Parts: sequence; C-alpha cells; structure tokens
Amino acid sequence: MYTALRLQRKLKRELGRGGAEITVVTPDPYMTYQPFLPEAAAGSLSPRHVVVPLRRVLDRCHVIVGEAESVDHAARTATVTTLATGEEGTGARRIAYDELVLAPGSVSRTLPVPGLADHGIGFRTVEEAIGLRNHVIEQMDIASTTRDPAIRDAALTFVFVGGGYAGVEALAELEDMARYAARYYHNVRPEDMKWILVEATGRILPEVGEELGRYTVAELRRRNIDVRLRTRLESCAGRVAVLSDGARFPTRTVVWTAGVRPHPVLAATDLPRDGRGRLKCTARLTVEGVEHAWAAGDAAAVPDVTAEEPGTECAPNAQHAVRQAKVLGDNIVRALRGEPLRTYAHAHAGSVASLGLHKGVAQLRGHRLTGCPAWLLHRGYHLSRVPTVNRKARVLAEWTLAGLFAREIVSLGSLEHPRAEFELAAGGKPSQDPPGDPKGSS
Ligand SMILES: Cc1cc2nc3c(=O)[nH]c(=O)nc-3n(C[C@H](O)[C@H](O)[C@H](O)COP(=O)(O)OP(=O)(O)OC[C@H]3O[C@@H](n4cnc5c(N)ncnc54)[C@H](O)[C@@H]3O)c2cc1C
Repeated sequence: MYTALRLQRKLKRELGRGGAEITVVTPDPYMTYQPFLPEAAAGSLSPRHVVVPLRRVLDRCHVIVGEAESVDHAARTATVTTLATGEEGTGARRIAYDELVLAPGSVSRTLPVPGLADHGIGFRTVEEAIGLRNHVIEQMDIASTTRDPAIRDAALTFVFVGGGYAGVEALAELEDMARYAARYYHNVRPEDMKWILVEATGRILPEVGEELGRYTVAELRRRNIDVRLRTRLESCAGRVAVLSDGARFPTRTVVWTAGVRPHPVLAATDLPRDGRGRLKCTARLTVEGVEHAWAAGDAAAVPDVTAEEPGTECAPNAQHAVRQAKVLGDNIVRALRGEPLRTYAHAHAGSVASLGLHKGVAQLRGHRLTGCPAWLLHRGYHLSRVPTVNRKARVLAEWTLAGLFAREIVSLGSLEHPRAEFELAAGGKPSQDPPGDPKGSS
C-alpha cells in the first residue's frame, strides 16, 4: 500500500495521461496495521479502525481483490486468482507487467506439534484478533455458568506460545481486558484465571532490548502471569497443553505466535531466495541479479547498511517495512526516469510495546521507559505511523472516548455466524461451529 501510494503520487501526470498504470493485487480490500491488533483484541480500538480501505486511498490504482498464485518473471506475468475466477470456473487470470513489486509479508511459522493444527489460534489478522477477544470473553461466560470444575478450569486457562511482539502484547492486552471484565462476573475473579506465556529461549520481547525484556518478565509475573522461559509446547492434543518442563494444562485456548516465515507464494516465483526463503534483495530494494523486480518488508532479505556487523539484514518488522516501501516507490520512479537509485538506510530508532491499558515498555534512542510514560509513547508513536489522516483522527477520537467511558466487555461472537439463528428457526442445524470459537475448540 505504501509503495502504491508513493507511485500514485509521483506518477500523477503519467497516470492521468494513460502513460502508467498501477495494479495492486491483494486478498483483502484493506491494509491491516498489525501493531494495533492487540488493542483491537482488548477492545480499545474498533476492528475497522485498524485497517485502511485500499480502494479509497489508492483511488488512482487498479485494485484487484485476489491472490497472486505464482509469478513468471522471465515472461513478466503473474497468475492471479480472484473470487470471480473460482465461480466462473475459468481458471486463474494472467496479468502482464513491466515492473513487479512483491511484498506478500510473512505467515505464522508453525511446528508439527500434535493438536496444534486443530486447536491453535493465530494472531496476525483482524479476524483472528477479534475472534480471540470473543473467544476469551466466551470462556469467562462458560466458566461462570458451568458446574463442572474441570470445564471451568480449562475455560479459564489461556496459553500463549511465543514471546515476541505479537505474543506478549496480545497476552498482556487480553489479560488486562479479562481482569477488568471479571468485575462484572459474580463468580469469576482475576485470580481464578491462569495466563501462561511459553517461550523457547531465555528472554522475551528481544525487540526492546535485554533489560526491558527482563523488566517485562517481572511485570507480567507481578500480574500473576505464568511466564515460562526455555520451555516449549510439546502437544495440545485433546485440549491439554503439555509443556517441555512436564507441566500439563487442560485448556481451550492455545494462541500460537512463535515466529513467522516468508509467505509461501515466494516459492512459486522464478526469483532468487535466501536460505530462509526470503527474496534476496539489494539495499536499493531491487531483487538481486534481476531487472524490473522489487521487494520490501518481511518477504525481502534487505542488507542493513547501518549495521556495524557486515552481512546483517533488516529485521522483519513494520518499522523497516513501511520505510522500505517508500524508498522502493521512489526508486521505481527514479529507474523509470533514468536517475540513480537511492540506498535504503534506516538506523533502528527503538521499540515500543503495550502491556495493557496504561502499561508498556519503550526503548527510544538509548532511553528506556516503562509503565504509563512508555504506554503513552507507544500510542503516540503508532498514532504517528498509522496511515492516512482519516485513520489517525478516528483512532484518536476512539481513544479519547474510551478514556471517558467504561471499557467494552461484550463478546459479539455470533457476528461470525450470522445465519445460525435463522437456520435454527428454519428447522435445520446451524452449519458452523458455535460462536466465538475460532477453531471449534469450545
Ligand atoms: C500482532 C502483531 C504486532 C506487531 N507489532 C509490531 C510493532 O509494534 N512494531 C513493528 O515494527 N512491527 C510489528 N509487527 C510486525 C509487522 O506488522 C510486520 O513486520 C509488517 O506488517 C510487515 O509488513 P509487510 O508489508 O512485509 O507484510 P504485511 O503487513 O503482512 O502485508 C503483506 C500483504 O500481502 C498480502 N498477500 C499475501 N499473500 C499474497 C498473495 N499471494 N497475493 C497478493 N497479496 C498477498 C497480505 O494479505 C498482506 O495484506 C507486528 C506483527 C503482529 C502480527
């Protein structure tokens, strides 16, 4: 989206005269600002405010809602499927291009853990974040109404695997929300819930540095969250999370945020990839050794020219993705005009993470902040980064309103299956899993 925005602005004249055409292929008609997903899960932001409608912002581009299945760069064609190609039975569409920008990001890196494919929940999309929120509140409802202590115990046990940004922020925000929501339940107290963070290495939140990582462990433990370092999830079959330290937790909630891997579509191209499957790129964001192919973000292995150690690559995060995308857009225009290309150079500015309402950690240009100041910095930073003035205004308005009223604690799980009630009324059986059950686990 950022590259297309840049191109649309810089090629304004050419687009007007039919001298250029920008086509954006995307599975969803919106861009997701992932750093806001934990706040969406906690109910601090509405789901529609963490996404940007592509058709509105890319009004001079041709937006195709579909998926690139493969790219034959030698022939300069991409094979794309859309919802319509499925219905028409005409097979995938081939799109010819002059310049290719490949930025499909990454997908969850899963491991062959028994039960994970059946019961695990990811945390990369708006649907997953909102589904998880509904699921957690629904588990509290189940715990509040059951007379079976085993069901209650499993409902109130929440296991998160992976101590990076996504895992720590999602757990911390949801725990904070559930702790608040518990005051509206006559028989569910915060201390009845078990929140467990499982991390394979000896530290969490490597993004904010070692010291703040240690602070975060202490802070989460102070909130009674069970942080288990150097521990792995070995199985979650039969809805029992079995850990490598021998602990066993019956649970209906296993959230998997243990890393990412490059999007599999990269393997369906004739472009060079590194050992980890990312596209080999130059610091000018061209694909190495290939003309007219460009890449950025999590899918691209871009040399970090600011790093002291040679061979260092840019980390897969939003900080690089957004900045690379802009340089990439500029470089395409420069290449078209025969001008020299710019090198992408961005020294790590720092990192911010939210640990719930009014709690956070931040590391900015060597300065470390914790608690409310860090949380304010986190909000300020992401407000400045979320694309478009329209979105910024909506997010700010929502935060302001939320500060004046009580937190939202409702689960709208039934939105996920809007036909269920009608199907029952019509005498049939609801065709889908019960509401609020992201993976059929309740
Ligand atoms: C919960 C969470 C919190 C995070 N918090 C932070 C943070 O605080 N700070 C930070 O720096 N980073 C954070 N990150 C990481 C950051 O969001 C990513 O590094 C960043 O989004 C990568 O950008 P990208 O453009 O490469 O990929 P994406 O943002 O994933 O975009 C890729 C797009 O390509 C589309 N696509 C995929 N396959 C195809 C296909 N075949 N055809 C067409 N389109 C396709 C996808 O649908 C998607 O829209 C967080 C990530 C998560 C999940």
